[in-house]
Amino acid sequence: MKKNEFPARFIVFEGLDGAGKSTQAKLLHDYFRDERGMKAHYTSEPTPSLIGGIIQSQIRKDWKSSNECLQLLFSADRLYHIEKEIIPLLEKGIHVICDRYFLSTAAYGDDMEWLLELNKKALFPDIVFLLNISPKESMRRIYSNRTGGVHLFEKEETLSRVQGNYKILAERFSDFVVSIEAERSIEEIAKDIQKIAEQRL
Ligand code: ADP
Repeated sequence: MKKNEFPARFIVFEGLDGAGKSTQAKLLHDYFRDERGMKAHYTSEPTPSLIGGIIQSQIRKDWKSSNECLQLLFSADRLYHIEKEIIPLLEKGIHVICDRYFLSTAAYGDDMEWLLELNKKALFPDIVFLLNISPKESMRRIYSNRTGGVHLFEKEETLSRVQGNYKILAERFSDFVVSIEAERSIEEIAKDIQKIAEQRL
């Protein structure tokens, strides 16, 4: 993977559905912009690109392919995201805060080594905040906030497998993965994240 040698940081949020990724990513974005006067951009995967659209169809169950095919699409969407959005912003000195990245592919897929190999042309993030919640808490947050049916990745047994994979990945990528206990208040978590992000700017 390529190192980030651009004049801005690339910060990623990972974790199970409902872990608080989008909440915390947006809070960090607002902190950078409003309290630190820095340029920052929030983005997420899958992207709204054509490839992201196919992925969304599968998540909505309008379209069906194997998990391997789906993870290939996520990986292709990521390379497009890096090329068209992430690198152009980093080049301009704008910090990029991304909700999900290659650890999601490696954790949700069935063959971690193949998926890591497939993502080796991706850009290394400077920090990945891995928000840890139990599969039970994930289900609770998903169902207390949604009216729809079961989404693609959200069965408790799947979440347990994914959580186990995230643990393996956190050890493997310990240079940049920071595990955060995320069954706490939104404010407490945000303060810890701000402190760690500041140290690595
Ligand atoms: P994700 O992006 O990881 O799926 P979200 O940030 O969308 O998670 O949060 C999912 C739901 O859980 C939202 O309704 C959000 O308000 C709630 N939530 C987020 N963080 C916390 C927290 N620390 N404690 C309780 N609920 C939370």
